[in-house]
Amino acid sequence: MEEPLALEEAQARILARVSVLSAEPVALGRAAGRVTAEPVRARVDLPPFASSAMDGYAVRAADLPGTLPVVARIAAGRPADRALGAGEAMEISTGGVVPDGADTVVPVEYVVHGDNDNSVGIAEPVAVGANVRPRGRDVVEGEPVAPAGVRVGAALVGALAAAGLADVRCTRRPRVAVVATGTELVSPGTPLAPGQIYESNGVMLAAALAASGADIEVLPVVADDEAAHRAALERGLAADVLVTSGGVSVGPHDLVRRVEAELGVEEVFWRVAIRPGKPVSFGVRGDTLVFGLPGNPVSSLVGCELFVKPALRALQGVADPLPRLQPGRLGSPLARTEARDELVRARSHLDQDVVVVVPLDGQESHMIVHSAAADALVHVPRGSGVLAAGAAVRWLRLGEP
Ligand code: AMP
Ligand code: MG
Repeated sequence: MEEPLALEEAQARILARVSVLSAEPVALGRAAGRVTAEPVRARVDLPPFASSAMDGYAVRAADLPGTLPVVARIAAGRPADRALGAGEAMEISTGGVVPDGADTVVPVEYVVHGDNDNSVGIAEPVAVGANVRPRGRDVVEGEPVAPAGVRVGAALVGALAAAGLADVRCTRRPRVAVVATGTELVSPGTPLAPGQIYESNGVMLAAALAASGADIEVLPVVADDEAAHRAALERGLAADVLVTSGGVSVGPHDLVRRVEAELGVEEVFWRVAIRPGKPVSFGVRGDTLVFGLPGNPVSSLVGCELFVKPALRALQGVADPLPRLQPGRLGSPLARTEARDELVRARSHLDQDVVVVVPLDGQESHMIVHSAAADALVHVPRGSGVLAAGAAVRWLRLGEP
């Protein structure tokens, strides 16, 4: 049997098999969570006109100090119908168009109102341009609002709308089929017969991958027999990504890889030197990426973070698809192992500007309830000795899209 692959090598082999999906226009209201397929450029200058940053009076700085007649009242969306002349003031609201001829806005707090508000007295000089937001200061028409390969978040939705885009070209959503295998599995909500357990990987993977921008189809659970595997896997292979759980170890009932091979899946690797999740498999058939995650729920969770999500990001054209490892310090000691990298579930907190990751109790790969309390996965690289409490480590936030 071949040696298990190193984690980085396995990830590299996956990314080498990914081609970015095609692009489509997406209405802004549906764009959150999608990934830009090309650089997006502003359709207008922003602001589109010189606009007032304050409620006050539009003037020429050269006329100050002085008492000026108020010749017009400008509101947001209601510009003046003429230019400002020498020696004049116009009342203006925040967001109003600064009229031609004016170069400055004096905030209302700094003026003394004359009779009937028909004039204003301004005692101090004001710097030219004060409280005026120049046209195009945020972005100029044709300039980039976002590059290709970024996931659209709330602020970018706002920026795209402000810059005049009704839709944005994004890569299409990857279609992911999820297949849980195991004769012992039943859906929660029905009583357990002897030897049965509740199916948890399918729903867990669907939740994780939907949050990563995929369209998920969870197929019915598959019993450990070849015909059932053949039918379900063939169906799943129509998707962009097929993710199975269970049945990739060396037991007599572990049928996934064998049946996939029969169905024309080319295996790229099987087994990675990690814990949990060593027996993970990856292959391709045509453009379909095929992930076999081990059945232990924590192994499935870790495999999803380390292998499936990076592939989904790459399919969507995310520029830097690998998990984002962040620096931190260990909250308690961890032993290293020469044979494999360990992915340790932990909780993170800030301690004087340093993120401390505290490994949780219950690190066995079946202990999904213990793992559900984790927000961090600490990467402990293969090696010898013990990493002491306080040692520098890298970790990834669980649940990143
Ligand atoms: P396997 O990888 O199929 O040998 O499964 C390893 C362990 O994970 C066994 O104890 C299975 O019962 C359990 N398991 C497999 N699939 C699931 C699943 N979808 N949900 C919960 N536990 C599972
Ligand atoms: Mg099984």
